[in-house]
Amino acid sequence: MRKKIVAGNWKMNTLPAEGVELAKQVAAGKHTVCDCVSFIVCPPFTHLSEVSKTLEGTGIAVGAQNCAAEAKGAYTGEVAASMIAALGCKYVILGHSERRQYYGETSGTLNRKMEQAYANNLVPIYCVGENLDEREAGKHFDVVKAQIEEVVYNLTPEQFGKLVIAYEPVWAIGTGKTATAEQAQEIHAYIRKVLAAKFGAAAEECPILYGGSCKPSNAAEIFAKEDVDGGLIGGAALKAEDFLAIGKGF
Ligand code: 13P
Repeated sequence: MRKKIVAGNWKMNTLPAEGVELAKQVAAGKHTVCDCVSFIVCPPFTHLSEVSKTLEGTGIAVGAQNCAAEAKGAYTGEVAASMIAALGCKYVILGHSERRQYYGETSGTLNRKMEQAYANNLVPIYCVGENLDEREAGKHFDVVKAQIEEVVYNLTPEQFGKLVIAYEPVWAIGTGKTATAEQAQEIHAYIRKVLAAKFGAAAEECPILYGGSCKPSNAAEIFAKEDVDGGLIGGAALKAEDFLAIGKGF
């Protein structure tokens, strides 16, 4: 039985005090959601410490949205995976399409970030997904395959055993457009097949989350699909009520 995960990517939103308040509200409502759901929140770096402390003992995990490709040193403005781990974080989102698109993250950089994450016992939430042109040209399968082959295929079986994948079609992020449950299932099953080609039966255990305008009104239908193991939520993760309601989609 694969883990069911609802992760909130807060992106560059909330001030520290607002983030702590949001985390408190999620923690307060967690009992209304099935224990079978693992919640993760990923605030900006500036509130990781406070949010981690706030969520201690609640069973809600904390993740960062990125980490440096290097271990430490003269890299002005970067945040090392070791620093994130020292704050009590368990996860790190890597390869989000906004990082690939606006900050030029390539598979080469992402391989190094993945190594840093694992070296510091952080579980990467590795994002893949195609843009609108690629979807319309029918290239979405090839795009996600390359994103997986170029990065995930470099992991050891042990590292792969601690990986979470998020499929986020770029055309559905923050647009209000969602992949249909059928579209999500089709590509999630394909992703699992690509993973199985390298890692065999272990691919059955890898959680694959859907991201892209996931909200309370569509979560249940998408999560009901066999190869969808939860969601990576952007906008709707900024309201505790909506984030929790998405968790009730299971
Ligand atoms: P939205 O839920 O706002 O579409 O964002 C999805 C996302 O990018 C999560 O990482």
